[in-house]
Amino acid sequence: MVHVGIGYDVHQLVAGRKLILGGVEIPHPKGLDGHSDADALMHAITDAILGALGEEDIGHFFPNTDPRWKGVASSVFLEEAARQVLPRNGRIVNVDATIIAQQPKLYPHIAAMKKNIADALGLREAQIGIKATTNEHMGFIGREEGIAAMAVASVDLP
Ligand code: MG
Repeated sequence: MVHVGIGYDVHQLVAGRKLILGGVEIPHPKGLDGHSDADALMHAITDAILGALGEEDIGHFFPNTDPRWKGVASSVFLEEAARQVLPRNGRIVNVDATIIAQQPKLYPHIAAMKKNIADALGLREAQIGIKATTNEHMGFIGREEGIAAMAVASVDLP
């Protein structure tokens, strides 16, 4: 039976941080603030997979009060989500995600993001969908105060 999970994440854009999305460092005057590398895309996908398993969320597995996860690459979280699938004899069918960012333009980085996410999850790039859209200058995303990501994952479980 195919189970579906949803994930959403948002981080604040601040000066003095690297902008990392889908494991790609993207040149930009501001980066996402957070305990880890603040990769909102990988966090949303992690939660989507955990959600499809009926598991607790990313904050339960990786509390932002735990110094072990300070500054860590968020591929670690994706790898853990994929590892949670194994003892259930399941397999991730596909992942699809949308990044919502007013700036910068993300399209040139999408292919590299797909590769990083596929590698972390042990999937093929064709199983990973990533889109980027702006917020048409509305709200906190439109004012470039933050970047959000949403994701769904489908997991085939016996
Ligand atoms: Mg997050």
